[in-house]
Amino acid sequence: MNSSLIGKIEKAKLYEHEPERIHFQKAQVEFRGKHDNYVVTLGDSDWKCTCHTFATGFETCSHIMALQRILHTMLDEESRSQHYELVGDHLEASVK
Ligand SMILES: [Zn+2]
Repeated sequence: MNSSLIGKIEKAKLYEHEPERIHFQKAQVEFRGKHDNYVVTLGDSDWKCTCHTFATGFETCSHIMALQRILHTMLDEESRSQHYELVGDHLEASVK
């Protein structure tokens, strides 16, 4: 194998453990929900989802919130917002 390619593979293995180097600007994923599959998109710090919850006027949903948690270190401040936390028995918005 080409020796410079071996160096690239070693570098990739180091980067794998440094997700903060990555900043998602746009993304589209299929999310397998409990009842159906949904398409979640991120563009210009703006999240959208094809699920019923999002369509009813909430600016977020469980699929978006899950992705915000998974991708947290790879999102800019604005894309991380719209977090809701269960505090006791009520929801609190927390912008992180
Ligand atoms: Zn959704």
